Amino acid sequence: MGSTLSFVEAEMTCPVCSKALSPHKVGGVAVDVCDAGCAGIWFDQFEFRKFDEQKEPDVEKTLKVAARVRPSSTSDQLDCPKCTTIKMMRYFSSTKRKVTIDECPSCAGVWLDAGELTAIRQEFPTEESRKAAADEVYSELFDVKMELERDKSVREVENFGRMFRFILPRVGLLRLQLDCGRG
Ligand SMILES: [Zn+2]
Ligand SMILES: [Zn+2]
Repeated sequence: MGSTLSFVEAEMTCPVCSKALSPHKVGGVAVDVCDAGCAGIWFDQFEFRKFDEQKEPDVEKTLKVAARVRPSSTSDQLDCPKCTTIKMMRYFSSTKRKVTIDECPSCAGVWLDAGELTAIRQEFPTEESRKAAADEVYSELFDVKMELERDKSVREVENFGRMFRFILPRVGLLRLQLDCGRG
């Protein structure tokens, strides 16, 4: 039982500067901060989403974290501070591609370097701007989907034509294909 507890409460170290992370609570959410080093913040799972809008608590301001040491090698893949042997995936916070986020593919925890959360909060100052950006992505996806749908319907019509090859008169089949090409 003691070993389980010590596992859960195992101290995490900063994936950037290897200093011990200190546990903090902001708005009822536990976060781990590199107080002694680079001021990066670790969020379990997607908890940073509770702080990425301006109307939500400002974690960096509340904790008064300020970068003391600039992250040394942010271009390298970071080890997850929780899983230790798992490399985190790096991706952009939004289509604006301003802020990179490191996310663990195993525990879904997220590491943000000092200032990144503030930058994310500034990307979309209003709910409307966030929605507009989401719509933009959605419409791009929709175009791709339509492309696929179109291909699929052509194939389906071809299959349909093949299926009735022996029943439909040739003229009927031809008109079916022409209608499809026009639509
Ligand atoms: Zn650090
Ligand atoms: Zn992890």
